[in-house]
Amino acid sequence: MTKKNKTKKNKTKNNKTKNNKTKTKDISYYNKVPQLLEVNGYKLLILPRKSKVTLVECMLFGGYYFEKKETSGISHLLEHVLTDAWKKCKLKSCSVFWEKYGVKSNAHTSISTNRYWIKGMSAFFDNMLEYIVETMINPKFTESDVKREKNAVENELNQYLNKPSWKLHDKVCKELHTVEGMQYANDEQQQLNILKTITKKKLLVHFNEFYTKNNMLFIISTGLDKEKIIRKFKSLTNKEKKVPACSFKIAKSGCFQNNKKIVYISEPQAKNTDICICFPLELYINEKYYYHLDMVSSIVSGDLTSLILSVLRKKLNLVYGASCFSITNMCGTVVYISVSTLDKNIKKVIENIFEICKLYSKKIISTNKLLQVKRKYKMGIYQANLNSVKSVRNFYANQFLYQLNNKDRKVVTLNEKIKKVSSLTKEKTRQIIKKIFDTKNCLIVYQGKKKIQFDMNKI
Ligand SMILES: [Zn+2]
Repeated sequence: MTKKNKTKKNKTKNNKTKNNKTKTKDISYYNKVPQLLEVNGYKLLILPRKSKVTLVECMLFGGYYFEKKETSGISHLLEHVLTDAWKKCKLKSCSVFWEKYGVKSNAHTSISTNRYWIKGMSAFFDNMLEYIVETMINPKFTESDVKREKNAVENELNQYLNKPSWKLHDKVCKELHTVEGMQYANDEQQQLNILKTITKKKLLVHFNEFYTKNNMLFIISTGLDKEKIIRKFKSLTNKEKKVPACSFKIAKSGCFQNNKKIVYISEPQAKNTDICICFPLELYINEKYYYHLDMVSSIVSGDLTSLILSVLRKKLNLVYGASCFSITNMCGTVVYISVSTLDKNIKKVIENIFEICKLYSKKIISTNKLLQVKRKYKMGIYQANLNSVKSVRNFYANQFLYQLNNKDRKVVTLNEKIKKVSSLTKEKTRQIIKKIFDTKNCLIVYQGKKKIQFDMNKI
């Protein structure tokens, strides 16, 4: 039931490097990319694992992406309601129904997706599958269910609004995107206003329009027999849905405003000034450079030896920490640099960050730096439990979802990904830094007591 839409990344740490060919050659989930099945028009991805645990999930394009200002937050409330919308738990709540089974389940709404999942012992597979499929294609809920979840969501939104940082996240969304729903994804104040007006009828309209065969991906990771899974899934999805495809177009580009600008948010009570620098890019999942985004981000700002922190913290004593991370969805990629500093140092910090990025667009990084990131990724691979149903899901879910309706999907195996990631060189790093930190579409948002004069033409 979490609302995951902050400028934060769901990292899957499976995409690591390989230095020693003989040792990591065979690290992979499968030799070949698993096949995406179509059963009764629904997309189904089966990810076999040698495990007694089963994970059943439905992931969909959706979230705030399909909303308008007047419906902002409706998909989040719907997410709450749907997790309890299975007819078998109607006499009590679904959490009470599932209590004795010892399962884990949750749902999430993000700027571009919704996710519903349940994980438990494979002995309860039939019920778990029925729960996910039924709530996704044939939910049963009442006006009083809606009322109850509105209270939960109201508390959740108020919790976000209690932290002043919501204004920064909100401004970033408003200034970065062109899609109205994405612009309001972090506007909890607007969502709170809309929440009061949402009825069961409105939720059903939204459900019927956006929970369609066109944008849903069912994922099952399990040790159970594949044929049995398909048979069961087929019988559950036999009921034809009224709307086969959503009326909204899932855009591949044009989600970003691409304006070079700096925006100030006044926060008279703030102690430090928080700065978020955003670089929107037309870089899609599994395209050239995509595999290196995580590594290059950590080279730019990760630990104390990273390019930014070695200067801003170690040399100039201007900051405590700084993070650099990227988020990729159907719109492309946004690379974020997030940092906090004393009011008197805002300008110095911003100028230094751009100087560092400019410098390493020309200069190559040290051999030690490249070895460091490669070895860290390699260590991550050795630590990962590749047999877990969650790790295989994390590896494949986004690869398939963001290319769901593409005829020629570019999906890779873990082994292929390791090869691509480990092909990073000093020269390639320089090229990627040059591409990512191109200032022509750069957006800076900062929040604090002090407004600065900053000429964007100088960066
Ligand atoms: Zn929630």
